[in-house]
Amino acid sequence: MFIDKSRLKEIQDICGVNNVLMDREDLLCYSYDATGQKMLPDLVAFPESASQISQILKIANTHKVPVVPRGAGSGFVGGTIPVKGGIVLALSRMNKILEIDEDNMLAVVEPGLVNEKLQQEVEKKGLFYPPDPASMKFSTIGGNIATGAGGPRAFKYGVTKDYVLGLEVVLPTGEIMKMGVRTAKGVVGYDLARFLVGSEGTLGVVTKINLKLIPKPEMTATLLSSFPNMDQAAQCVTSVIKAKIIPATLEYIDRRAIECIKPYLVDAAIPENTGAILLMEVDGPKDTVGKEVRKIESLCRENGAMETSTAFEKEEREKLWTARRAISPSLRKISPTKINEDITVPRTKIPKTIQMLDRVEKKYSIPIVNFGHAGDGNVHVNLMVDQSDSDIMKRLDPALEEIFEEVLEMGGTISGEHGIGLAKSRYIEKEIGETSLELQKRVKLAFDPNNIMNPGKIFWPNV
Ligand SMILES: Cc1cc2nc3c(=O)[nH]c(=O)nc-3n(C[C@H](O)[C@H](O)[C@H](O)COP(=O)(O)OP(=O)(O)OC[C@H]3O[C@@H](n4cnc5c(N)ncnc54)[C@H](O)[C@@H]3O)c2cc1C
Repeated sequence: MFIDKSRLKEIQDICGVNNVLMDREDLLCYSYDATGQKMLPDLVAFPESASQISQILKIANTHKVPVVPRGAGSGFVGGTIPVKGGIVLALSRMNKILEIDEDNMLAVVEPGLVNEKLQQEVEKKGLFYPPDPASMKFSTIGGNIATGAGGPRAFKYGVTKDYVLGLEVVLPTGEIMKMGVRTAKGVVGYDLARFLVGSEGTLGVVTKINLKLIPKPEMTATLLSSFPNMDQAAQCVTSVIKAKIIPATLEYIDRRAIECIKPYLVDAAIPENTGAILLMEVDGPKDTVGKEVRKIESLCRENGAMETSTAFEKEEREKLWTARRAISPSLRKISPTKINEDITVPRTKIPKTIQMLDRVEKKYSIPIVNFGHAGDGNVHVNLMVDQSDSDIMKRLDPALEEIFEEVLEMGGTISGEHGIGLAKSRYIEKEIGETSLELQKRVKLAFDPNNIMNPGKIFWPNV
């Protein structure tokens, strides 16, 4: 227990008595993320400014109290679980859009802002913020920055880091510092702003964000196409890209995931023997979108698609998306718990990856469900394990080892967008090697000499 009465009083004086929680039932609500793992913090504080965060970090740094920033707690790698106790900084009160500068096409926002709210507000002004994790209805911009979130539109538009111009960050030692710019370019010193992207709350607390915006595409169309099997769906992806069409999204869903989301597929015609689904979106000027839709529909037919539903209106398009967004939660039907990996391979290696996953499934008797972002090679691999079943858990580690080794051999990465957190810290060295790992640990300690920021995450053995 890090928090005694005098520290509690200090933090209450900073945030206000009502913005500090210490009762067990309250702490439970801030003890977990989407992995389902839980650890209780000693205290949860709800600061409303960088200055309050700075004061809390100075206290924590003096007394070596762990501090864990928290957005919506939707992370898939245990990043916001307070494994060493201490203070959870819940950023939900810092959720404002401070500025939308239409002329310079940028937004300045606080970290607790929910991604979808930003999308809606900029779109009202004819602007567009492309990074759209499937969790955009609840995940926060601060969490998206800290995890380096991607999403379905990454293939055409890139990921969160491509839209970060500048940040305000409170360092673990309490200084409030600006990183980066609010201009379209800037090369003064190291690019610390983008270095912070994906740092998983281990280097400081992000308190303000300058984001690049782009013009909203004139029109968007969504196509949902059913194929007898994954090979034909993958072949269709290759044909679309060979035709020089870059869809804004290019998602695939495998046979097992289709079973789980059938109740959500009422608005699309899905034949009984569907073995794979492609969900594609094209956007841009009206004429181009029309032409690309017709071309994709014909490429789908040529590659064996049995049905294709196409929607142009927002409401109709949303109906086609409902099924994709329901995948993650609906997988609970197969098993109450799952291990969710987000390996990424060169796009052309997706069919080989799916074959490898089929092999691993059989070898270790672990049901595996796949879906993901076909455009950028990001395969969401869900190993459906009941974590209370010790037999299946024994088979899990070797299965994961085998998957990661094969992915690295194919030139891929063990995480395309979810990060390392707790879940993958054991495997980080496999990918980046000893020299890079040691350098990264030294960088961590340069920012955070007392290792108070989100300790126990990313590095293995724990830093
Ligand atoms: C159904 C579902 C679908 C998802 N789909 C996607 C997807 O398509 N793409 C994708 O990339 N991810 C996806 N995710 C994972 C998750 O939503 C993202 O990782 C998201 O960016 C986390 O945001 P959050 O606000 O929930 O952050 P949290 O989970 O609260 O925190 C994540 C990490 O960020 C740190 N952090 C949070 N705020 C700050 C801050 N202000 N300063 C410093 N560090 C901070 C935390 O300490 C933690 O390490 C999905 C999750 C779910 C449940």
